[in-house]
Amino acid sequence: MLDSLRLQLCKIQGRLFELSLTKNFDSEIFITLFMKSKTAGDFGLKYNRLQWAGEEYLLEEVVAELGDKLTAGAQYSKDEMFWIGYTYCYWHFLTEEDNKKIVLKAPPKKMLKSYAGLHTIDTALAIEDLIGYERFDVEKIYECPSCRTSIKLRLSDYWEFTASNERQMGHEAEYSVDCNEHCPKCGKGYRITGGIWEYPALALNDDTTKIDRESK
Ligand SMILES: [Zn+2]
Repeated sequence: MLDSLRLQLCKIQGRLFELSLTKNFDSEIFITLFMKSKTAGDFGLKYNRLQWAGEEYLLEEVVAELGDKLTAGAQYSKDEMFWIGYTYCYWHFLTEEDNKKIVLKAPPKKMLKSYAGLHTIDTALAIEDLIGYERFDVEKIYECPSCRTSIKLRLSDYWEFTASNERQMGHEAEYSVDCNEHCPKCGKGYRITGGIWEYPALALNDDTTKIDRESK
């Protein structure tokens, strides 16, 4: 969940997309060019004067930047435009991904198709759906401390997200693993604890997990 300031910004971007309809811009062109624009880049920064200006002023900035590249054409509905603008902005703040990459992964046509199925669900879940398969996970084989049999686990079933940082190569995330299970062969309890570091995005950078006998 984003903080209230960022949710406010998502609404402004949603209203900006909606407002572009009053200028008769082709929706697909407007969305694509906006997401690649400097204005969108500035708007998505953590602190920028554009964020306090509101959607009318933002639209003026976009028009000043893109000029006659914005042509008239087919338009999406008001609700669709709001949802697309809102969701893109939410996505940007949630993953800190660049706007240009976001619109490449989920172009306007894909957003339009997804609108019916996704606009009523939680935005973070909708984004997960739009991103699809790209989720970080680690599969690892441990050895039962009692009988030495191999135990294969998907660690995302047992970890909790604990921290994220921005580093030189992008996003870093930290997960804390705590798993209490029983060996499928000997039935004795075991416990896996430690940390997993994802860096850059989707890559395993470090793993400090270890398996022990269940502490009594
Ligand atoms: Zn065992």
